[in-house]
Amino acid sequence: MALSLDQSIATLAVLSEATRMLHEARPFGARIHDLFNLLHRTFAYHDARLTCWIGSARPGATRQQFYSADGWPYSWDDTLMRQVARQDQIAFHQLMANGRATGTGQLPAVPIVYLGVPIFWGGRLWGMLELRASQGTLFADELYGLMAALAPQLAAAIMAESKQQWPADSESTALAAVQQQLALFDDDLQNTLALPHVLSLLLRRAIELSGAESGAVSLIDHERGELILQVSEGYPPELSSLDLQHGQRQRWSWEIGLSGQAARSGRALLVRDVTQEPSLRLTNSSVRAELAAPIIVDGQALAIITLDSPRSAAFGDDELSFIQALCQRSARPLQRAMHYQEMLETSTHLSQVFGSLPTGLALMDTGSRIVRSNPAWASLWGLDPEELQRTFYVAIDLVDALLSRLIEPMQLTEFCANGQRSPAEVQITTVRLSNPTQELHVLSVPTRDSQDQITGRLWAVNDVTREREVDRLKNEFVSIVSHELRTPLTSILGYTELLLARDFPAEERKQFVKTVYDEASRLALLVEDLLGMSRLEAGKVQLNRWVIALRQIIAELTNQLNTQLARHRLVIRIEDPLPPVYIDRDRTKQILFNLLTNAIKYSPRGGEIELVISEVHLRQLPADHPRGRWVLVGVRDQGIGIAAEDLPRIWERFYRVDNGNTRRIGGTGLGLSITKALVELHGGMIWVESKIGEGSNFYFTLPVATEMARRG
Ligand code: ADP
Repeated sequence: MALSLDQSIATLAVLSEATRMLHEARPFGARIHDLFNLLHRTFAYHDARLTCWIGSARPGATRQQFYSADGWPYSWDDTLMRQVARQDQIAFHQLMANGRATGTGQLPAVPIVYLGVPIFWGGRLWGMLELRASQGTLFADELYGLMAALAPQLAAAIMAESKQQWPADSESTALAAVQQQLALFDDDLQNTLALPHVLSLLLRRAIELSGAESGAVSLIDHERGELILQVSEGYPPELSSLDLQHGQRQRWSWEIGLSGQAARSGRALLVRDVTQEPSLRLTNSSVRAELAAPIIVDGQALAIITLDSPRSAAFGDDELSFIQALCQRSARPLQRAMHYQEMLETSTHLSQVFGSLPTGLALMDTGSRIVRSNPAWASLWGLDPEELQRTFYVAIDLVDALLSRLIEPMQLTEFCANGQRSPAEVQITTVRLSNPTQELHVLSVPTRDSQDQITGRLWAVNDVTREREVDRLKNEFVSIVSHELRTPLTSILGYTELLLARDFPAEERKQFVKTVYDEASRLALLVEDLLGMSRLEAGKVQLNRWVIALRQIIAELTNQLNTQLARHRLVIRIEDPLPPVYIDRDRTKQILFNLLTNAIKYSPRGGEIELVISEVHLRQLPADHPRGRWVLVGVRDQGIGIAAEDLPRIWERFYRVDNGNTRRIGGTGLGLSITKALVELHGGMIWVESKIGEGSNFYFTLPVATEMARRG
């Protein structure tokens, strides 16, 4: 680097001033601070730091750091420091505000320029001098020259300080310092149970006291023969402890590297220079010296501490024995921390399971107080979780909270009381709730502590509404279908048997055949309904639509129903003119047929049945009715009516209102569900208004044929 004469003279002046200062007989720290001030006056940097490995040739060596008086809010980046130290030459970096240059330090809000000066002397690193400035105050060229000349002076000062702190002939002083460091370490370990903290403490101490530039602690998985990286310091990001992308710890086989060897053999190992050991495969190519030591508890290695340095012979026997001492001291605390961690993991896992299960769970103490419950617990009972926390303490409070919905409040009260009375028994019940209808299966089992003493109960609640519904449907299906099949079959068989056995007069024979025909028709209808239902459910029914005048269909239907209408009066009112509708002829007939036969069936004492058809305005239809032009069809009867609680359910498959009347009347419970599906296939809606004992009004809509449909 070419310097002008003036610059060279100025630099020389600073250098001689600095050299004088550094070798004054004053405390080391004071001299360094004066040096910082001198540099600041000359180069207007923002802040500075000097890291020294005082006495690092010995065990117990510790890193000392000095900072300039002016601080910046941006933390210093140790990773960058180690990286520069490894390269053994003055390094210039620019840390941009918009991206991290390196390391994990806080991002600067302004661009920072950084100058790192490794202080090498006699084949070893004594320290690192670092300067930082803002972008505007670029470091001058002469600073490089000065730093290159200053580094050996600083090395000499640090060396002298080292000698003073660690006189070569005083082994016992060094040992005493080691003892002191270890005692401090013991205290720190005593104060923590958390595994990550114990491991970081251990690594920090090991790095500081061995003078290593980087290091890691891994746990050993003996079953899989693997090491699992736990904490690390000073490595590039791809070799550091957590794989942030996948949220998983790095693992590798213990067949690899010095750490693996140490894990398998259970011995502390040292490699002074990896270039001399071709068999050793290391992932990090900048490492020259490595030390790996196991932490052994009860004859088994639990963890490995690995220390690395880019300097060959960075570690010697002293470092090795020191790290071994450190490992020995960490063994019990590590074991304790691992047990604690295991418990923590178990409880974390259990909490996750507890929290994510769809089964509602509540843990109660012996006084039935709810100690803990999961989100499903609140949602299954239909309770607000916050409300639950504020007011809910004891199981029996459930009865209060659910009083308006419980179909048998006494049953749940009994269930709670039984749990109290017989704390060791398992109990099971099904709680039925209304509004909305729900069936909850509740299991209550005693919980015990590790000494087998009862600690309370665990309630597990499952919603079985759907299963019960499916069961009910299945049973109803079997009983209805078998009844509906058997009744006509019995009469068909009976009459045909009679006809075969004897000759009857013609009139009687005709009567018998007519009955056989009617019963066979009933069977055919049932089979048709069952098939129709399954086709509708499979989405296989397609409408064959035409523009049709409803009046024509009504005429055909009334003819068909004539015989059934013996006890009723059918009144038909069709608006005139009525616009044509765009419908499937047969399906619409089926809709009307179902509604009219129901009206006849469920008005056993006769009366008037009214069929009213007119075009309606959207305003007159339910709010959620689709837009467009519609014809409304009403089928009104004066029959037995339907109770309010049954109204929403009559559209379900196989649902039949269960009372004396309907049982006598017979049916499959399929008609209305088929009818509803067919109306909806046409785009319309169906609904009912009914009062028990006063008759029912069924309504449905059909689309008016638009110009498009007419042409199409
Ligand atoms: P099914 O008539 O074969 O039993 P539906 O699906 O047609 O089956 O009807 C379901 C139930 O709705 C019937 O069991 C009956 O209880 C009730 N229901 C249907 N229509 C009427 C009506 N017009 N009057 C009274 N109850 C009716």
